[in-house]
Amino acid sequence: MFWQRKELVCQEMVELITDYLEGALSRSQRRRFDAHIAACENCTEYLRQMRATIRLTGRLRAEDMTPAMREELTALYQRWREEETTPEETSEE
Ligand SMILES: [Zn+2]
Repeated sequence: MFWQRKELVCQEMVELITDYLEGALSRSQRRRFDAHIAACENCTEYLRQMRATIRLTGRLRAEDMTPAMREELTALYQRWREEETTPEETSEE
């Protein structure tokens, strides 16, 4: 299926999202980003949260993201990936 690399692309989204929001992506990067967002519920939600943050703080720059924030995002995406790749029902933590 053409979805099989979705997880990798989601992690790319985390790296690109600040550039995206500042309009700093190249045209082809942006097209790819938009296409992914349109197809990925997780990234749509993440983008919405980032936009809400920007509304609150005025702007968001890559350097405003602390290492802790980046770690949190990475953990978030890893959790989504685990959920997507675990077919059986598992107990809640
Ligand atoms: Zn995604």
